[in-house]
Amino acid sequence: MGRIANFEEKNIINVAYECDVLVVGGGVAGIAASLAAARSGAKVILLEKGYMLGGLATAGLVTIYLPICDGMGRQVSFGLAEELLKLSIKHGVESRYPDEWLDRNDSIEVRAKGKRFQVQFNAQLFAIDAEKVLLDAGVKILYGTLAANVKMEEGKITYVVIENKSGRRAVEVRSVVDTTGDADICHLAGAKCTTHFNGNILAAWYYAFVEGKYILNMVGFSDVPEEQRKNDVKHKYLLERKFGGIDGEEISEFMQFSHEYTLKDFLSKYEGKNVAFPVTIATIPQLRMTRKLVGEYVLDEFEVHKHFESSIGMISDWRKRGPVFEIPFETLYGKEVKNLITAGRCISVTDNMWDITRAIPDCAVTGEAAGVAAAMSDDFTTLDIKKLQMELVRRGVKLHESDI
Ligand SMILES: Cc1cc2nc3c(=O)[nH]c(=O)nc-3n(C[C@H](O)[C@H](O)[C@H](O)COP(=O)(O)OP(=O)(O)OC[C@H]3O[C@@H](n4cnc5c(N)ncnc54)[C@H](O)[C@@H]3O)c2cc1C
Repeated sequence: MGRIANFEEKNIINVAYECDVLVVGGGVAGIAASLAAARSGAKVILLEKGYMLGGLATAGLVTIYLPICDGMGRQVSFGLAEELLKLSIKHGVESRYPDEWLDRNDSIEVRAKGKRFQVQFNAQLFAIDAEKVLLDAGVKILYGTLAANVKMEEGKITYVVIENKSGRRAVEVRSVVDTTGDADICHLAGAKCTTHFNGNILAAWYYAFVEGKYILNMVGFSDVPEEQRKNDVKHKYLLERKFGGIDGEEISEFMQFSHEYTLKDFLSKYEGKNVAFPVTIATIPQLRMTRKLVGEYVLDEFEVHKHFESSIGMISDWRKRGPVFEIPFETLYGKEVKNLITAGRCISVTDNMWDITRAIPDCAVTGEAAGVAAAMSDDFTTLDIKKLQMELVRRGVKLHESDI
């Protein structure tokens, strides 16, 4: 049993803000959710504990916007997933542009044989451009602001307690979108959550400037099955240790190991070169799958090509060509907390499916649906899904595989 200190704190917190939709976490899912809710006319506040937008995609240096196509020549993710992909390369500063999708009007056969509809972008420009788009849409962004607690009344969140330089205060809310990536708000509000069975491998992605070129070094490339990694240097683990990602001290250790392996990798690859130095290291932990919601529906990898009446959009599998998944609305909320919805890497899926739905474009797909839904309702268990779908379609989203 841990020790307890009694601070005799006053149980009264000043209400600093009120809004229709509070989005917690400014990663790609939070950007999409805020933008979608604001474009629906809602008064939106976005909380971000760091000081730039984009989360793992920018501060975490994961600068590859994985495909919005199925690899067989068909685009499957539309709406904000496509808009944000294009925003990420607005200034054209990175490589890996799929000409057959962006510059030419090639046939489905040509696209199927060519590059997938994915891009590599510049983290800093994407973060700044996303901020501008949100401000233009009327979103109020609070940086350096942690959502630290919630107040519940009759199965709904009524206030979210925030902490920043101004102290500990509250936001009065109508609905909340949890885009923390770690289901922090779901957890605080008492929604059913679960963690990854296996934990996360250590990653240390960093950018280096080497003799005139900026190079993304994907150290701790990805988590793959044992058999594959035995014979593949690219997939070699840095450490055998796995990280859960929801323990404060463990996350600090993760960052320290990440720094140590960044330096090791840099020295082993570039020491002795004329001009070579690291230019950016990650400023948030590169953890892939930590905690997620167990919602009204848990989507599985085997439900590929399955028609869901309640689909809010589609995603592909970044790992292989072919699979398409419709995402049922019920993966975004649970019944315990009626005005709370999730998006991004903490939606309700099985562990195998998690590796698919956590990719950047998929976070934009679920973010857009969550934002529109949050602007429409403060009870997702009774929301009229047809109305939500009509609004998504009006915005250019395609819901079913039969639509493409
Ligand atoms: C090493 C690695 C490699 C990857 N490679 C790729 C890739 O090549 N391509 C790809 O598409 N995807 C990749 N991914 C996955 C992808 O980057 C992420 O899953 C995706 O960006 C997650 O977006 P998100 O918005 O759900 O969450 P996040 O990006 O994690 O954003 C959550 C945000 O919420 C903020 N936050 C958290 N808690 C609070 C709180 N309590 N209060 C306030 N703010 C809070 C955080 O600061 C953060 O900005 C990779 C991931 C990792 C770790």
